[in-house]
Amino acid sequence: MKVLDPATTNAIEQCVVALKRSQLVAIPTETVYGLAALATDKVAIRRIYAVKSRPSSHPLILHIANPADLDYWATNVSRDARDLVDAFWPGPLTIVVNRTDSVCDEITGARDTVAIRCPSHKLTRELLLQLGSAIVAPSANKFGKVSPTRAQHVVDDLGDEIDLILDGGECDVGLESTVIDCTTNPPQLLRAGAVSIEQIKDACNIAVSDASGESRAPGMLDKHYAPNCRVVLVADADEADRRRHELLTQGIRARVLDYSADLEKYAHRLYDSLRKADDDKVDVVIAVLAPSSGLGAAINDRLYKAANSLE
Ligand code: AMP
Ligand code: MG
Repeated sequence: MKVLDPATTNAIEQCVVALKRSQLVAIPTETVYGLAALATDKVAIRRIYAVKSRPSSHPLILHIANPADLDYWATNVSRDARDLVDAFWPGPLTIVVNRTDSVCDEITGARDTVAIRCPSHKLTRELLLQLGSAIVAPSANKFGKVSPTRAQHVVDDLGDEIDLILDGGECDVGLESTVIDCTTNPPQLLRAGAVSIEQIKDACNIAVSDASGESRAPGMLDKHYAPNCRVVLVADADEADRRRHELLTQGIRARVLDYSADLEKYAHRLYDSLRKADDDKVDVVIAVLAPSSGLGAAINDRLYKAANSLE
């Protein structure tokens, strides 16, 4: 595995060549680092599942260079989906739509729908434009673990199991994309993320509903994004302090995680903080929940999953 500085001459070309040779390339995006394979390369896509230890029932997100590419991969796209695309692409919003025959079964777990997003990260866009095709890119970590927001996290998790890592520094948002199922009316929220349902309501006047019925989001597990240490959730900083003292008196190493006053910072720092807690051999992270609206919904979703607690 090689870590590539984007300032290196021909860095993007090297990634393109690697992808065309069926290699797996970890790339920075505005959400988290993704593990990329060419969207038409079934062998490389199967390797993504193997490297991540990801069940094949957990479909991948297709990443495209331009919003206009949507119609190559998707058909019968609803008015709501078009409005979401106009308002939020390029950006951290994924839509689930009906797929065309251009999408292989390996991406979707043989479903007739596909999840698509058009990322805004400058390097990802350059890569997609030079590639002249699409990529699939789940988070570049082992299944169920904390997503990577720096190149070093990818090295720590996947190391020699992949071919190349493009080091784009820290990811801006730090949380995965919002996933909206646009094959239902109204559209359903499959995963809270960087774009909030309030922003969607404001920009498109779409009232996204919660996911219901048969789970449309395979792999939306209660436990996910989990560090090795225990995560305990509390309502405010005072309670966090009380819990920390309690645990310290029992000889348990506890650390408080609280950026609840600045949600963008909370999202940006969350995964890095959880990883750092593991590196520092902390036993328990006491995380203060965010206010539940806006970006706070996505932060709390990840915190609940990290804590495996639905209280
Ligand atoms: P990740 O690649 O880890 O960011 O996760 C992608 C998520 O998108 C998965 O957990 C799925 O729940 C969701 N997803 C991908 N494709 C589909 C699809 N065809 N239908 C419903 N959900 C999907
Ligand atoms: Mg993931």
